[in-house]
Amino acid sequence: SRYSQDIKDAIRTVPDWPEAGVMFRDIMPLLQDAQVFRKLIDSFVHRYQGMQLDAIAAIDARGFILGAPLAYELGLSLVPVRKKGKLPFATVTQEYDLEYGSATIELHTDAFKAGDRVLVMDDLIATGGTMLAACELVRKLGAEVVETAAIIDLPDLKGGDKLRQAGFDVYAICEFD
Ligand code: IMP
Repeated sequence: SRYSQDIKDAIRTVPDWPEAGVMFRDIMPLLQDAQVFRKLIDSFVHRYQGMQLDAIAAIDARGFILGAPLAYELGLSLVPVRKKGKLPFATVTQEYDLEYGSATIELHTDAFKAGDRVLVMDDLIATGGTMLAACELVRKLGAEVVETAAIIDLPDLKGGDKLRQAGFDVYAICEFD
């Protein structure tokens, strides 16, 4: 988008967090800057208005921060994808691999209607495992993933490739090497 450089410039890199060798991309300064946060949400609004979406599946926890204002602005259903054990009603679950071990995410079984057109959102795509698991959950409920969206893609980690190979479109505002 025309704001992508401003958005990228507002992301802080924290070396060696959460462990040695990792360059953590921290969006907190972006959220703290009201003008840049507006540019961020406006960029997503510009891309997704007119796409005939029904719902946004927003991934726990930073995906919530993006999905909520976008759903409000576009008049869409907001569906938080939660980490295991947080949802009170009947759930569908999806396990996925992490670098060490595994994680599980969940949706309520009534989160979508069959055929709903869904945007899946998170702050960042690294290996793509989290986003792919969320897409699989959406599909389990008979809804359609129209696109996956993030602020940041890390192309060296090939998450975007993994998602595209699985048949999911990917939109990211900026990339870090
Ligand atoms: P993936 O499943 O390997 O693609 O990792 C993406 C998930 O981990 C997302 O939910 C991100 O919020 C989180 N994540 C991984 N690396 C970073 C980072 O550098 N900054 C912020 N979040 C990250």
